[in-house]
Amino acid sequence: MDWISHLLFGLTLGAILLKYRFRGKIIFLAAASLLPDLDILWYHRSELHSPLVLLVFALLPAIQNRTLFFPLLIGFWSHSALDIFLFDNSNHTIMNLANQVIENESISRSIEENVTRYIAADGIMLFYPFSNEKFSITLGEESYAIMAGIIITIAVLTFLWLHFKQ
Ligand SMILES: [Zn+2]
Repeated sequence: MDWISHLLFGLTLGAILLKYRFRGKIIFLAAASLLPDLDILWYHRSELHSPLVLLVFALLPAIQNRTLFFPLLIGFWSHSALDIFLFDNSNHTIMNLANQVIENESISRSIEENVTRYIAADGIMLFYPFSNEKFSITLGEESYAIMAGIIITIAVLTFLWLHFKQ
């Protein structure tokens, strides 16, 4: 999933799960929901996407400050959860969308090639370090759009609820 979905999903989960302790820690949660993608610098969806490795990363700062543990863990694990879902581009959806905007087939094709190269992934290592096997759920055009719509809707509703509650 893309970074905006990661942020929205992480923040929404945090708003629901942390409630009153949420506000001061929002920045940690937001950062944690994006941090696993630092591995794009060497190898995307590496060990840095594995839930157990991320648990350790949430525990280390918690030695200094225990209140950081849950915001970090929620941010990290929300990232892993979303990255299990992959987008099925076998119908060249990305190229067709690009072509509708810029109306140039060869540029659209190179956009697709670049996008798929950077987001290329085959799931996450759910049980690393016990197993290197990668797990994924592939979504087609429609189900991917539905997922994104659900995330955005839940995010909007959560923020409205938090806003009008006080
Ligand atoms: Zn990722």
